[in-house]
Amino acid sequence: MKDISQKDLETNLRLVAKQEPDQRTLVRVGSVVIGGEQVAVMAGPCAVESRDQVVEIAARVKASGARLLRGGAFKPLTFPYRNERMFELRERGLAYLKEAGEKTGLPVVSEVMDVRLVGLVADHVDMIQIGARNMQNFPLLEEVAKTGKPVLLKRHYGASLRDWLGAAEYLLYNANRNVVLCERGIAAPHTHQPTSRFIVDLQVVPAVRDFTHLPVVVDPSHATFKRDYVPPIARAAVAAGADGLLIDVHPVPEQAAVDPLQALDYRSFGRLMEQVSAIAGVLGRTI
Ligand code: PEP
Ligand code: MN
Repeated sequence: MKDISQKDLETNLRLVAKQEPDQRTLVRVGSVVIGGEQVAVMAGPCAVESRDQVVEIAARVKASGARLLRGGAFKPLTFPYRNERMFELRERGLAYLKEAGEKTGLPVVSEVMDVRLVGLVADHVDMIQIGARNMQNFPLLEEVAKTGKPVLLKRHYGASLRDWLGAAEYLLYNANRNVVLCERGIAAPHTHQPTSRFIVDLQVVPAVRDFTHLPVVVDPSHATFKRDYVPPIARAAVAAGADGLLIDVHPVPEQAAVDPLQALDYRSFGRLMEQVSAIAGVLGRTI
C-alpha cells in the first residue's frame, strides 16, 4: 500500500475511503458531471486579465470541448510585487469570470486563498479551488466545505497521498461530499529545474482509485510549467484514467499576466483536445 494503512481507512479516512470496490462519487458542477464516463476538461487563463479576454477565452475553449472555465482572480503569487504586467483583478476578476460563465454556459472554477473571502468567491463561482499551497489550511477547508459548493482540492507538491486524502476528509467531515482531487505535480530535491519544476505523479491516479470513491483530475500546466510539456503529460493523464484535466489557455501565452511559460494558445489547445478525445475513446470514455 502506498502510505495508507487499513486502520487509516477505517478511522482517519472513514469518509473518503471506498466502502465497495466499485464505489464512485459523481460530482455535479452545474450541468457537468465529474467522475463518470466523461473526462471533464477545465480550461482558461491562469489569471483573469480583462472582461473581454475571459469572455473570449471561455467561448474558444468551449468550442474546443472544454466543460468548465478556469481562471484566477486571487492568485498565490510567489512574490508580493504586482505591476501592469503581473497582476490579479480580485473582486473585478470574479465578476468577469461569472459573466463569461453565464455567456457561454460553462460552470466556473476559481481559487480562494483567504478564509475572509470564502463567501464572496462562493457567490461568483460554481466550484471553489483550494490551491496547492493551502491544501492543509484546515480553517479554510472548513469554511469552503460549508458553502456547499463543489471543491477542487489540489495536492500540495510536498504532500503524500495520505496527507491529501486527510485534507479531503476534512471537507467530507464538514458535510461536503462534492470533492474532486487534483494532482498538480510533486517536488523532489532534484526537480527544481526549468525542465522539471515538479514531477507529475501519474501513479497517484490509480492509487486514488484504490482508496477512495472521489474523482481525480490532473493539472499538467502548473506541474510542468512549460507549454511544450503540457500536451504529452495531459495525454498520459487521460490514458492513466484521470477524470479530467486542468489546462491554462491564453490567446497570446507569452504575454499572460501570470504563468506565461505554460499556457497553450487556442490552436495547441484545440489539437490537444482532439488527441485526448481519441485516447478517452479507447478507454470507453468521452471528452
Ligand atoms: C492555479 O491553478 O492557478 C494555481 C495557482 O495552481 P497551484 O495551486 O496548483 O499552484
Ligand atoms: Mn497559474
